[in-house]
Amino acid sequence: MNIQTDLRAQAGFRRDASHFIDGVFTQGNSGKGWDNICPVDGSRIGFVPEAGEAEVDAAVKAARAALEGAWGRMSLADRTSMLAEVAAEINRRFDDFLSAECLDTGKPASLASHIDIPRGAANFTMFTDVAKTVSTECFPMPTPDGAGALNYGLRRPRGVIAVISPWNLPLLLMTWKVGPALALGNTVVVKPSEATPLTATLLGEVMNKVGVPKGVYNVIHGFGGNSAGQMLTQHPGVNGVTFTGSTKSGENIMRAAATGIRPVSLELGGKNPGIIFADCDIDKAVEGAMRSVFSNSGQVCLGTERLYVQRPIFDAFVAKLKATVEALKLGRPEDPATGMGPMISETHRKKVLSYYARAVADGATVVTGGAVPDMPAELAGGAWVQPTIWTGLADDSPVVTEEIFGPCCHIRPFDTEEEVIHLANATPYGLAAMVWTENLSRAHRVGSKLQVGICWINSWFLRDLRTAFGGAKASGIGREGGVHSLEFYTEMTNVCVKL
Ligand code: NAD
Repeated sequence: MNIQTDLRAQAGFRRDASHFIDGVFTQGNSGKGWDNICPVDGSRIGFVPEAGEAEVDAAVKAARAALEGAWGRMSLADRTSMLAEVAAEINRRFDDFLSAECLDTGKPASLASHIDIPRGAANFTMFTDVAKTVSTECFPMPTPDGAGALNYGLRRPRGVIAVISPWNLPLLLMTWKVGPALALGNTVVVKPSEATPLTATLLGEVMNKVGVPKGVYNVIHGFGGNSAGQMLTQHPGVNGVTFTGSTKSGENIMRAAATGIRPVSLELGGKNPGIIFADCDIDKAVEGAMRSVFSNSGQVCLGTERLYVQRPIFDAFVAKLKATVEALKLGRPEDPATGMGPMISETHRKKVLSYYARAVADGATVVTGGAVPDMPAELAGGAWVQPTIWTGLADDSPVVTEEIFGPCCHIRPFDTEEEVIHLANATPYGLAAMVWTENLSRAHRVGSKLQVGICWINSWFLRDLRTAFGGAKASGIGREGGVHSLEFYTEMTNVCVKL
C-alpha cells in the first residue's frame, strides 16, 4: 500500500463521479447534479451527476437485458471465476480504492486499508464460494398408483436487484449486497449514498476490465426520497430491493416496494448497548469499548452508544476510557498517527452537535469532549467534532434513546444482571450488543437474552462472513451472509415430477 501524502495526488481514479449504465460511463441528461465535498477540509472533490427517470429506467432495462442475455446464460463456473477476478482486480487497484474512499469519507487510511477495501474484495470471493456449493432439497413421495413422485427445489436468481447503500462503509456495504447478488446470478442497479459516489463508480471500471458483461452491474447517482433512490425502488422492473441505511429510510423503501409485492432486505439503524460486568478484564473491555464507540468516528451501525458498567468498576472504567479517548489524534486520512476522522458532512456534524447540546441541556456530566475541536487552519473547513463521553443522563433522554451515529457514548452504572438486560433491551432497535465478562455462564446467559441480531462476548466487530447478519426489531428485516443470503437473492421453485 502506498498512500500519497496528498490523497488528491493519487492519479488512478476519476474525481467526477459518473453513472455506469450498460457498461458505459455517462453523465446522463438530467442536467442536475451536485459538488462532492471532502469532509476533511470542506474542499471540492468533483462533480456528481443526478440521475433522472431516464437514467434509472435505462439502468434497470440494461440489468434486465443482461439477466436474460449473456449473464443469464453464463455457467456457474464462468460466473464465479469472473467474480473472483473482480476481487483480484480490486486488490490490484487497492490504492485507488483506498484514496477514493478516504477522500469521500475522510476516514483514516489505516482503517480503510484494514477494513473497507479488503472486505470490499472479500465480499466477492466469499459469495462465489457460497454460490458454488448451493444445494437444494429433494423429497420422494408415494402416490396411490405406486409409481411415486419426486419433489425437488430449484433455486433461480431473483432478477434485477436494486442495491441502496449508505456512506459510512461505502465499498464494503455496497459489495456486501452486490457480491451475493451477482454470485447467485442476479443483475444489479446500485444507488450509492450521495455523500460517497466514488468507489461505486470505480467498481464499474473493474467490471469492464474483468469483462463482466455490460448491464450486470449498473450505478446511478442521486439522493433518496424524490430522487434516484425513490425512482429506483418504485421502478416496476426491479424484482427486489436490498437496503442498508437508517430505519426511517427503510420504512419509506418498504412502502415503495409494497407496490408489486417486491421483497426487501433491510439492514437498518441501531442504538447498541455495551455491557461491562465487574468481573471483566477491564483493560480489554476499555480497548473494546474504545473501538466500538469511536471507530470510523462512531459512524458504524454496529457501534456502541450506550455503555452500562457494573457499579464496582464504574469509576475506574470511566477514567480509563477517558484517558484513552483523550489520546486519540484527529487528523488527515493519510497520516498514520490519525485515530479519528471527521463526520461525513457538515449536515451530519450539525446533527451530532445537536445531541452534544441536548446532553448538556438534559443535565449530563461531560466526561470528555462535547465540542468542536481546534483544528489546524487547513482542516478548519472540515466536519470535525470532539470524541465525547457523558454520564448522568436519565434513561429517557434522546441522547440515550436515539441513534446519533457520532463519536460519543453515554455511560451508566448498573447493579444486577437482570437490571442491565432490561436496560439493554429497552429500545425499539435490535442490531448489536457486546458483553464483557470473564464468567462463562453469565456470558452465555446474558447473550441469549439480548434482543439483537449479533451479540459479541469479549469482542466487537469480529465475524465470520458465513454467519447470519441482520437486525432484530426496528433494526432490519432478513438475514444476509453465507447461505443465509440465498433467502433474498434467489427464488425457490418446487418441481413435482410424477414418476
Ligand atoms: P440513509 O437512510 O439516509 O441513506 C442510505 C441510502 O438510502 C442513501 O443512498 C440514500 O440516498 C438512500 N435513500 C434514503 N431515502 C430513500 C428513499 N426514500 N428511497 C430510496 N433510497 C433512499 O442512511 P445514511 O445516513 O446514509 O447511513 C446511516 C444509517 O445507516 C444509520 O442509521 C446506520 O445505522 C445505518 N446503517 C445500518 C447498517 C446495518 O447493517 N444495519 C450498516 C450501515 C449503516
